Amino acid sequence: MSSCRLLQSELKLWTSGRSKWTRGLNEGIGWSGKTFLSTSCCPKVCIVGSGPAGFYTAQHLIKARQDVEVDIYERLPVPFGLVRFGVAPDHPEVKNVINTFTQTAKHSRCSFYGNVNVGKDVTVGELQQAYHAVVLSYGAEGNRRVGVPGEDLRGVYSAKDFVGWYNGLPSCRELSPDLSCETAVILGQGNVALDVARILLSPLDILKKTDITQPALEALAESQVRKVLIVGRRGPMQVACTIKELREMVNLPGTRPEMVAADFEGVPEALKVVRSERIYGRSLSAVADLPRPRKRLTELLMKTAMEVPGDKELERRKNATKIWGFRFYRSPTEIFADPSHSRTAGIRLAVNRLEGSGERAQAVLTGEVEDVSCGLVISSIGYKSHPIDPSVPFDSRRAIVPNSVGRVHQAAGLYCSGWLKTGPTGVIATTMNNSFDTARSLLEDVDSGTLDISTAKPGSQIVSMLLEERGVKPVTFSDWEKIDSLEMRKGEACGKPREKLLTVEEMLKVART
Ligand code: FAD
Ligand code: NAP
Repeated sequence: MSSCRLLQSELKLWTSGRSKWTRGLNEGIGWSGKTFLSTSCCPKVCIVGSGPAGFYTAQHLIKARQDVEVDIYERLPVPFGLVRFGVAPDHPEVKNVINTFTQTAKHSRCSFYGNVNVGKDVTVGELQQAYHAVVLSYGAEGNRRVGVPGEDLRGVYSAKDFVGWYNGLPSCRELSPDLSCETAVILGQGNVALDVARILLSPLDILKKTDITQPALEALAESQVRKVLIVGRRGPMQVACTIKELREMVNLPGTRPEMVAADFEGVPEALKVVRSERIYGRSLSAVADLPRPRKRLTELLMKTAMEVPGDKELERRKNATKIWGFRFYRSPTEIFADPSHSRTAGIRLAVNRLEGSGERAQAVLTGEVEDVSCGLVISSIGYKSHPIDPSVPFDSRRAIVPNSVGRVHQAAGLYCSGWLKTGPTGVIATTMNNSFDTARSLLEDVDSGTLDISTAKPGSQIVSMLLEERGVKPVTFSDWEKIDSLEMRKGEACGKPREKLLTVEEMLKVART
């Protein structure tokens, strides 16, 4: 039986009883009238999600083989994932990766289909039937919960939602965070926590030149927040942020740092000492010195907390009207409501001590607690992936798709990349490397014959018919470019690089003009 016939019979089974779409399949034509049952079998790959992982996977596939065709399906009408909706508005240089992604999207062997929610509009199984391989790169759109009483009070937000709100993520438009209090507590000490702290405390003159949304800018203009405490369960030598982001906080105009000297006990000594620890029961001295990035980060923290600044810095700090600081060795146990139970009024923090040292040190409760008054709590303890389709293996404990170098376990033809593959850590460069690894695994499987490409696959032609039947109209990359240019024009009018459209409806309206 020829490969085309095989495909036809397979697809007939798959679509038995379907109308226009089935007729198309049986006759070997797509809805556009083009024949798709060609006998030449170039690998057709579908990528789910158009964040860095999706685009870097596509880029590597296209560059490495001259015959690979890649289609990217994206839930939103706009591409680029967290580069658009996560990266802080005052970090425009980070968003330059969009230029590389745009080149990939415009490649003749790459197509973008926005406004397609995989798992809802089309299943992963259907995509697997239509393509030789499917790469899941849909990121981590949920967040870890702190899991303490009071987490659902007004005035308590996840960093994921707060970031989504100031960056114009349509699902976070209604958040309208209450910024009418003086003190905000951020839980977690990673780079997202520092992004949030910076946005809460930055002078408006800085923010209004960025692509932060207009409603966020207006709310921040009215904000009463004057003090931001960034709370971590472990110590200064375990903070998860990086030095560039810490330095930005230290130098943030109009603010001064305020730390607790006692939190730094033993840190100067630890910086000097060559570590000695017990590994597998053996005492190993001089195992290794601190890694250089950790050493520099700790030195900057120490300097900020302990050193008496020079005259110029002293003057700057004296004139500051806003305060920020790290609080260490503290775990939240409860968020309190005000007497009317309408909003948060404070947080109870359990005091910890550390067991062990270095990155692996564990926070252990001491039994002491401390209450902090605050009207705003933002939990920034990490994002989290969710399953989107019951047919795809999912490790609920680690919240990732179980995989080996991007090959999804027990699911031939299915791959994953980005935060869905590794969990929600790593910068764009890390995501790029892990996405290239996934693309390499896929191509190795093509070369070794593990991934069967002997039968032609219909790819987007059949998926487009399916979507049409379901009333879903994808947004193409040139549709996105209409949104892009409108947003830039709107931004230009008010001195910003872009003014984002805030609803899916608005985006679709512009895309279809
Ligand atoms: P994402 O970027 O989240 O992309 C996933 C895409 O999948 C999204 O477009 C989403 O809409 C789409 N999707 C989701 N579900 C579906 C579905 N069912 N069907 C179809 N599509 C779907 N890194 C840096 O290097 N510099 C920074 O300054 C920086 N700032 C950051 C700020 C924040 C707040 C966060 C959270 C991260 C930041 N990072 C930064 C890290 C960087 O954003 C990540 O490494 C990277 O975005 C992960 O890429 P991803 O493609 O796996 O996920
Ligand atoms: P992160 O770097 O993993 O930091 C998470 C923080 O939450 C850590 O301080 C962690 O403390 C704490 N935490 C986790 N679980 C906790 C719990 N149950 N209770 C209390 N605290 C808890 O995550 P992130 O800040 O969300 O950032 C995600 C990734 O994006 C990171 O790789 C980050 O570098 C990157 N990013 C980069 C930039 C940038 O380059 N400018 C900006 C934003 C984000 P422990 O260490 O004790 O677990």
